[in-house]
Amino acid sequence: MSAEAARPHVLILGGTTEGRRLAEALTGTPGTPDALDAPDTPPALPGAARVTTSLAGRVAAPVLPPGETRIGGFGGPSGLAAWIRAHRVTHLIDATHPFAERMSFNAAGAAALTGVPLLALRRPGWAPGPGDDWTFTDSLSEAAALLPGLGGRVFLTTGRMGLHTFAHLTDTWFLVRSVDPPTAPVPPRLEVRLARGPFTLDDERQLLARHRIDVVVTKDSGGSATAPKLTAAREAGIPVLVVRRPPVPQDVAEAGSVTAALRWLGGARNP
Ligand code: NAP
Repeated sequence: MSAEAARPHVLILGGTTEGRRLAEALTGTPGTPDALDAPDTPPALPGAARVTTSLAGRVAAPVLPPGETRIGGFGGPSGLAAWIRAHRVTHLIDATHPFAERMSFNAAGAAALTGVPLLALRRPGWAPGPGDDWTFTDSLSEAAALLPGLGGRVFLTTGRMGLHTFAHLTDTWFLVRSVDPPTAPVPPRLEVRLARGPFTLDDERQLLARHRIDVVVTKDSGGSATAPKLTAAREAGIPVLVVRRPPVPQDVAEAGSVTAALRWLGGARNP
């Protein structure tokens, strides 16, 4: 076996800050410090690992992580399994967003088909604290059904993909923040703010005040990059609708931080 073939190959299913941070740590590329992670994380794998990050291709100009990258779907669990075999992947990390439901199940399916060890790198969800006025919902449509009773000027931070769910709310004004512009159908009374996190507490305070927001809608994405909107809402006494996370595949090892993922990689059995 050549030295290249014997080298560990980590495939990161990305699309999140955590996925990018893991690629930075594994390639020894200095990244932005992460409050969740110790700065002096030890190397996870003996020798230099080959690191590939896969992105779905939803964002027009993604921030590419260091290492190798590939963009676009694999064609379901069997397509991912074929890619894993063809590229001699030794470790699979599901670092997709907590709401990327299908890809997490695809990863579990591909791990079962190939026997490659799988870790889900999933940041912890948010929890309300004193002074928070949160209502949890099971879906975007449940959030849409509750909105008219809560307010008429909505800061909608659930991404551009599910906006059709709110399109029938003709009396409600929406401020939508997303990385790329949304596509129709969208609510008729809408202002779009194109931006990529992280966001500061000061920015969020100003945004809520300037647009006279009276309700915020968010997914329970977790993490620090987009959490300041929750603090700003609490300070202003604004209610927040929080969409619960979808189910995840059972029996998959989980890490809540990049440091924990590096530890897992250091100790994962060799397939
Ligand atoms: P999804 O519903 O779970 O996935 C739909 C399909 O997109 C998958 O079946 C897969 O296609 C492809 N795909 C998803 N993630 C991929 C990846 N990392 N590499 C290659 N193909 C991928 O996911 P989604 O909700 O559309 O999200 C797409 C991407 O955006 C994810 O990578 C996620 O991390 C990121 N993201 C999502 C959200 C969100 O709220 N959903 C927020 C921020 C970032 P095949 O079956 O053909 O392989």
